[in-house]
This record gives sequence, structure tokens and C-alpha cells, in this order.
Amino acid sequence: MKYDLVLHGATVIDPSQEIHGRFDVAVAGDRIVAVAQRIEAGEAGRLIDLSGKVLTPGWVDIHAHVYAGVTTWGIKADAFCLATGVTTIVDAGSPGWANFLGFEEYIVAPSRTQVLTFVHISGIGLTYGPLGEMEDLRYGDPARTAFVVQNWPDICVGVKVRQGKHQVGDNGVRPLRLALEAAEAARVPVMVHIGAGVPLPDVLAEMREGDIATHCYQGVGDGIIGEDGGVIPQVWEARQRGVVFDIGHGGGSFDFEVARAALANGFAADVISTDIHAHSIHHSVYSLPETASKLLNLGVDLEDVVRQSTTSAAAAIGRGDELGTLRVGTVADLAAFEILDGEFEFHDVRRRLLVGARKIEPVLTVRAGEVYRPQELAEEVAETLRRAGQMKAITGGNFAEAIARGAIAPGRPGLGDKGG
Ligand SMILES: [Zn+2]
Repeated sequence: MKYDLVLHGATVIDPSQEIHGRFDVAVAGDRIVAVAQRIEAGEAGRLIDLSGKVLTPGWVDIHAHVYAGVTTWGIKADAFCLATGVTTIVDAGSPGWANFLGFEEYIVAPSRTQVLTFVHISGIGLTYGPLGEMEDLRYGDPARTAFVVQNWPDICVGVKVRQGKHQVGDNGVRPLRLALEAAEAARVPVMVHIGAGVPLPDVLAEMREGDIATHCYQGVGDGIIGEDGGVIPQVWEARQRGVVFDIGHGGGSFDFEVARAALANGFAADVISTDIHAHSIHHSVYSLPETASKLLNLGVDLEDVVRQSTTSAAAAIGRGDELGTLRVGTVADLAAFEILDGEFEFHDVRRRLLVGARKIEPVLTVRAGEVYRPQELAEEVAETLRRAGQMKAITGGNFAEAIARGAIAPGRPGLGDKGG
């Protein structure tokens, strides 16, 4: 057989090659070996008919928290990713230099999904959510952070810092400066969480071309929209300079009103990401295709939504040569979706309702040539949700209430709540 797998009959959208049309895609081993309008079925070991479906490069989620069991927000993401079209997931700073080796051994190595990470400038990473990880600057160690990033380049894509009052206390942009020092040494971007309590112009003024501002549609304060309802000039200036703007939905950072104001001003995020974690997975995020569906229903074109979830996401983490593309010779990471028509309800982090006419529904994921279907992963995904509920209960603000309703069951892993 010439090919191990042929994906037949889909509408292929590959923004990296400006492909949008009906194509067949052939895979041999873990590589894409042909993209053509017609590939003979007889040459394939396995043929999958995707007529009526959309086929894209595998989706790349550049902001998530997957250091399960070790960090406040970590979820077991492997099966969840493969059930939702995500072939590469990037942890946004759950590991710092001090707990990075555990991340490599317990999360990256056993995962079928490709797992990458930003290394937090705080050496402890996000192990203890109740206290801001950079309220004490002694946690910031640019030299050790840069060392880890440079010596594990297959896994590390950049440096993370969170620049809100809750994370930095009275330290202003000093944590960001430490992150930049590490990133300069390792020649990688910094991903900066923008949040209330540190003026956004001060943060953006420090950021370089290729650095990533995540949570760009947050509505908690010090965001991208000014008092006049327009995008503030410093944001336009930063974009001009090459700063990348990422969504990072999360539990508190996707506000439909901010997204609408930005889009009305002609400002769309460069990258769509979930910031999925134990406290957001049950609460309005749900998945990358669900997040992308919100953008689709807010007026972003399907092709742009795909670009922001694939090609642009891969470029933002310096992996555009290999990921977010269906170029022949690259890794066989693909995702197939059905674009459903109907009436669908979506929520933002303030539980505002958006009723949309289209929804991006994952039907199949190919990761390094292996085929996964959502229904085959259902049990593992249910376990992910149970464990996430347990972590949320034990690390949430309403701890006592969670005990009272039995959400936390010590010694019985998996018996979590329904998310609360
Ligand atoms: Zn995050």
C-alpha cells in the first residue's frame, strides 16, 4: 500500500497554504504525504470518508493548564484534546523551573497529544493559586528559567508571566521584566496574562515583537477597550510592533461585550485559545471548538477561526514550519469537524447568553497518523471531568461548602463533583 490512510472528500481548509476546497489527504506513517483533489482509494490501507465535513490542520491550543494533580488548575487533558480536534496543547506556565522535570516525565512523556509549555518565571509555577506567584519577587529566577527553556527546546516554547494585581501584588511590571530577561537569554517569546491592577499600557510598553498578550477579551479591568468604547491606542501600537493577541478564554477572561467592541473596531484576536483548566472546563469554556464557535457566531469567518486555531497559533509558538499546516512532509496532525446549523447557546464568563446559528462539532482527530474519534474517548473524557471537579472543589474559594456536599472524597480519586 502506498498510503496508510486516506481522508476522502472533505472540504479542506489549510490557511498556511491558502487551501479552501474539496481535497483528499494521504498519510503514510506519521507524515502527510499527499494533498490532492483526487487520491485513488485503492492505494490506501484505510480510507475514511469525510464528505460533508471540514478537514483542517490539527488544532493548537496555546493556553491551557494540564499539569494535573500538581498545580491548582491542572487537568488531565490528553483524551480531552484528542476528542476535540486538538493535537498540540501548550501549558501556559503551570510548570516553573523547579517542577519542570515532573511535567516532562508525568505529563509530556505519556501523552498521545503533543504537550508543550511556557515555563513560568515564578520557579514554583502555578502550584498554589490562593497566593499570587509573583507577589514575592524571590520566586523569579531568570537564569534557571532560561536554562530549562534552552535545554528542553522540544517541550518549552516560551516564558510565562501573569501581570494582574492578584499575581504580582505591588510589584507592577517587575515580574514581566524578569520574564523578559529569561526570554531574551533563551530567545523565545513571553506570554503575558493581562489583568486588572496593572495598567495595560505599562505592560504593553515592555513587550517585544512576537511576545503574546493573553486574555485580550477580558472585561475585568485594564483591558484593551478604553472609556470611549474603542480599542486603546497602545494596543494598536503594540499590534503594529508585532505583539500577538490571544484569547485565553478561561474562567474569567472572555467577555462577549469586549469581543464585540473589539470586532466592531476591526480588532480581532490573532489566536484563539481556551485557558482550559479545572476551574473553567465545566464553566463556559468546554473546549477549543466551542470557544471557536463563539467567535464564529460573533462574526469571525470560518476560515479566520481555523487560521487562529491552527496556523497562527503554531506561528505564535515558533512551530509554524511543522504545525498548523497540511504541507506535505509535515506531521500528520489533522482535525475534522461538522459545521452544524441550528440554534445553539453559548455563554461568556459572566454567563451572558449568545444564541448562534452555527456550531463547530469535532468528529475525528488524527495525531501523528493515529486516528481518534470522540465517542471512543468518552470514558476517558468523563474521568477528566470528574478529576477536574475534584481539583476545583479542593482548590476553590468555597472549600467548606464543597466538603459539605461531598464533592471532595479523599482516597477515592475520580469521585468528584459535577463541577459546582
Ligand atoms: Zn491560564
